[in-house]
Amino acid sequence: MILFKRPDDLIDFIQKKRKSIIKIGFVPTMGALHQGHISLIKKSKSENDITICSIFINPTQFNNPNDFKKYPVTIEADIEQLELNGCDILFMPSVDDIYPENFQKSNFELGYLDNILEGKHRAGHFQGVCMVVKRLLEIVKCDILYLGQKDYQQCMVIKKMATDLNIPVKIKISPTIREENGLAMSSRNKRLNEAEKEAALVIFEVLCFLKDNIFGLSIPALLQTGENKLTSKRFKVDYIEITDEILNPIKNAEKNQTIVALIAASIGDVRLIDNMILNNANNAE
Ligand code: AMP
Repeated sequence: MILFKRPDDLIDFIQKKRKSIIKIGFVPTMGALHQGHISLIKKSKSENDITICSIFINPTQFNNPNDFKKYPVTIEADIEQLELNGCDILFMPSVDDIYPENFQKSNFELGYLDNILEGKHRAGHFQGVCMVVKRLLEIVKCDILYLGQKDYQQCMVIKKMATDLNIPVKIKISPTIREENGLAMSSRNKRLNEAEKEAALVIFEVLCFLKDNIFGLSIPALLQTGENKLTSKRFKVDYIEITDEILNPIKNAEKNQTIVALIAASIGDVRLIDNMILNNANNAE
């Protein structure tokens, strides 16, 4: 695996490679890699000639400075995992590389996506996400960008930005990888103590409960029970929502529509998010 720190070096390298016809897959991450990230690397490797992973803890997407300060960093282990899984290139820029002095901040028109769920609870978060992804795509110029369904709303936001700005990239979304007990893998899990990790299983339990009962109970009853289950494990719930495919809350569940449940909740000072497709109109989950 080749490590690039400076954008210009990576840009040069990619330009040279582009002289022959190759396909480039890109997996942007904030490091503290787990099998969720690795699943994206593997998917990219199976579909491209070159797979690039970036590790960059993007300050502009953290609305909470403490969350940024405490974001886990495990660079040596990350490099080992990437090499083990055949990643071709690791891009590890500094904050100044991504946001140089002359960097022009732009406002991304994200519509309702900026004001609901994660957008509502983490003001400015998606602006920061778009800022970094746009910049990374300018550098990496990949054919396919690989994202995880774990960040459902983020996938929608990035797709919208890429479409609106005519960025010529294909976006592929991979399913959420979970621990055997159902806990969605997340870099933030590293900050949970044993008791919190045990309690965090309730998130998956609630999502399964919603899936099992989506056509049996009313949506308000489902949400209330879900919230009670979360708070009984001392979670502070930011939101628990049942929506259609594009994140509009629904009042009734119809079998011919895609239905998604999304949860964001904190235990101690660790905020976790998860989601599940409760009904897939395309039957393709
Ligand atoms: P992050 O490092 O958290 O910014 O995540 C980098 C990429 O990995 C994003 O596209 C995430 O959606 C994806 N990802 C994070 N956790 C998982 C998971 N458990 N399963 C699949 N993809 C994931």
